[in-house]
Amino acid sequence: MNIILLGPPGAGKEHSGGADREERKMVQLSTGAMLRAAVAAGTEIGKKADAIMKSGGLVSDDIVIGIINDRIDEPDCQGGFILDGFPRTLPQAAALDKLLQQKGKKLDKVVEIKVDDAALVDRISGRFSCAKCGAGYHDRHKPTKTPGVCDNCGATEFTRRADDNAETVKSRLMAYYRETAPLIGYYFAKEKLQSVDGMAPIDEVTSQINAALG
Ligand code: AMP
Repeated sequence: MNIILLGPPGAGKEHSGGADREERKMVQLSTGAMLRAAVAAGTEIGKKADAIMKSGGLVSDDIVIGIINDRIDEPDCQGGFILDGFPRTLPQAAALDKLLQQKGKKLDKVVEIKVDDAALVDRISGRFSCAKCGAGYHDRHKPTKTPGVCDNCGATEFTRRADDNAETVKSRLMAYYRETAPLIGYYFAKEKLQSVDGMAPIDEVTSQINAALG
């Protein structure tokens, strides 16, 4: 099964898509995570993407389409994939349709995670994750049980995304409403869209996503 998780920054795409995916043999492909890895590794793509990501804008369609085109050919994607953060523009959605068709694959569903606008800035400013296992936390809504120690793996190093600050968040939200929100209508018209309540507790969002996948 191949699906897209659609939703604004802060909707919880990264952390709610996870459950069940191992059982389903699906891999989660986050273009944001791939771009952050490219920035950290100092690759050509990373150099092009760095300043744009820091400003909260969108990296060019060509770059992200190229990344996804290559990535879904890899063996681990053959059981199915969850696209997280891609497509983000109508040209990316059209390119995805085309490349899936060329590869003899299909898009099964698009799950929209709906979240109140007012909650997004609050959710994003305060996010951090374990540097070792990637478990996600929040200063106010989901602190670690023991301060400074990951609940999941016991590590004591944490990371915060460079673009998770109040100023950049506003640009990211603007980019979402200008470029990405039209995809909701695009996939509704294609009869692929299913919506889940992203304001529910994370475990429940995950169960709703799993239920939507059927
Ligand atoms: P995310 O982790 O999905 O919030 O993405 C972080 C940043 O990476 C975004 O603010 C964009 O600058 C860039 N990015 C990630 N995915 C895409 C995409 N599909 N198209 C353009 N830019 C992207």
